[in-house]
Amino acid sequence: MTARIIDGKAISQEVRAEWKLRADALKARGITPGLAVIIVGEDPASKVYVGNKIKACAELGIYSEHLELPADTTEVELLAQIAKLNADPKIHGFLVQLPVPKHIDSNKVLLAISPDKDVDGFHPMNVGELVTGNPKFQPCTPFGVMKLLEKSGVEIEGRHAVVVGRSNIVGKPMALMLLQKNATVTICTSKTVDLAKFTRDADILVVATGKPQMISGDMIKPGAAVIDVGINRLANGKLVGDVDFDSASAVAGWITPVPGGVGPMTITMLVASTVMAAERSMA
Ligand code: NDP
Repeated sequence: MTARIIDGKAISQEVRAEWKLRADALKARGITPGLAVIIVGEDPASKVYVGNKIKACAELGIYSEHLELPADTTEVELLAQIAKLNADPKIHGFLVQLPVPKHIDSNKVLLAISPDKDVDGFHPMNVGELVTGNPKFQPCTPFGVMKLLEKSGVEIEGRHAVVVGRSNIVGKPMALMLLQKNATVTICTSKTVDLAKFTRDADILVVATGKPQMISGDMIKPGAAVIDVGINRLANGKLVGDVDFDSASAVAGWITPVPGGVGPMTITMLVASTVMAAERSMA
């Protein structure tokens, strides 16, 4: 079997076009959705992400601000900037790009963001609403994975979904979203004994470990939908996922490439969440 490629770039364009219509409808009613991103310090990868977020906003005609604060910004100063954005009517959603420098407590930062503007969905109140099945904002990467599955016609209800990885930003919310769609969900971690036993039973396999190419074709059920969240740079400069694409695509039914799979969806869902927040502000 040769897997169908889930083209994240194409699906992302399709989803952006849908959300642009909603952003345009808001603008016709006098509201321009606004997103702000705070970045603290000089992390080059974070700068690239932030640049891409600003570009996506421009594409949808969304107002965006980005605040670049120096690495020695104190926690008190950062919390003061967050308070300003919480009160700013032009801004419907914002986030603080993680990681923040070590002298800042990232939990305090997440708690300070108004749950009504928390487009990343990391505030404990929004996490709780995801757990109870009525989320206001959902973490963008797993939210994007759900869109990829939906747009590719992958059946979720009643299927066995295995999520490898349990981070707060990908693995755990991913498992909750699949559960919400009536999948039977297994979560695997670095402590799982005999990982392949679980992955081989997965109809839907989502891998988010940060371990390059750790899932090979012999660990995959024939016909499964394989979603590779990982982004890893090899020593030779090549970008690869957590799944070994060549062997996996010979067995899977669907597969996301890296790059060009999950990555483009993450930012798309961020702008979608900003438009959603602006819509809610009118209610
Ligand atoms: P974390 O490092 O926070 O979490 C990794 C998880 O993988 C942990 O739960 C860990 O288990 C588990 N894990 C590690 N090794 C193994 C193993 N051998 N077997 C089973 N489980 C294992 O990573 P993130 O969730 O933040 O990110 C994961 C990957 O996704 C990274 O490559 C990252 O770059 C990428 N990413 C991509 C995004 C996108 O937009 N496409 C967005 C966010 C992340 P344990 O808890 O036991 O340590």
